Amino acid sequence: MDIEKKHFTCVICPIGCEIDVELQDSNVVSIEGSKCAKGKEFVSQELKEPMRILTTTIRMKGAKWAMLPVRTDKPIPKRLLFMVMKELQNIELKAPVQMSDVIIRDIAGTGANILATRNMKKEREGKSV
Ligand code: SF4
Repeated sequence: MDIEKKHFTCVICPIGCEIDVELQDSNVVSIEGSKCAKGKEFVSQELKEPMRILTTTIRMKGAKWAMLPVRTDKPIPKRLLFMVMKELQNIELKAPVQMSDVIIRDIAGTGANILATRNMKKEREGKSV
């Protein structure tokens, strides 16, 4: 049986281990390059369904800044990132917003919530309050 080779860069921590995997009949027969066990879990998940935390911005109204930075509270399937981004493009929030506020629950049925990652105060007469 042919051996299939795959390469991954682990995104679990900033070290970013380069991991080489050999597969036979879709089963992992060797894995090299991970500095800890999380790398093996990462590869296993990548082979099943790649997952990512989404970080992006949402438009704001009546706030000091035009865009609010947000992220998902847990990884979502990588294949859904574009669809979720499109959904967020249609949203405009009103200030104020507090950091860690849940902006949207269960975004696009992923089970993940969208959280604000900074405070956003109202803007009044040219000043944020
Ligand atoms: S394998 Fe371990 S040490 Fe390497 S990037 Fe992943 S989590 Fe970090």
